[in-house]
Amino acid sequence: MNIDIENMTSCNGNKVANQFVISTGDGVRVFRSYTSNIARIDADGNVILDSKYWDYSATTSKYRNLFLGNDTATCRRLIKSGVYKLDDLNNRELDHEELDHENTLDRLNKVDLGDLCVHCGNSTAFGSGRFVNRYPVFGLKRGHGIEYTGYCCYECELAFESERGDF
Ligand SMILES: [Zn+2]
Repeated sequence: MNIDIENMTSCNGNKVANQFVISTGDGVRVFRSYTSNIARIDADGNVILDSKYWDYSATTSKYRNLFLGNDTATCRRLIKSGVYKLDDLNNRELDHEELDHENTLDRLNKVDLGDLCVHCGNSTAFGSGRFVNRYPVFGLKRGHGIEYTGYCCYECELAFESERGDF
């Protein structure tokens, strides 16, 4: 099964930490807050909320409302009328393992090198002699799908420019 995890996006377009939408590829979407599954919509639009965590905190409610496209009062009304079902969305060990595995892979695939040059691996910190003219590099892909974040030092930049024949 092809699992896709995306951060929720706030109304000003920024990615929100710890609030995720998980798509399982069969039309099922799950809203996950921190490590808990909060709400699940299947391909037919049927909604199941986690009986314990659906209204856990103001943050949970805010992003649950964004996920479901309504407000907390409407959500309560739909639970009462039986349109939204309450169930335990956090007790399926196998799913947890799969999701944690995906999260771990995602973390492992992003390497933050800090002050190091993403090309030569030398420090570009202040006083290293490579601080001047360094520039930040985000998510440089270099084999095995790993994305490196760090800096490009001036020496490596010069090497690239001469390769391109800009001199
Ligand atoms: Zn370098």
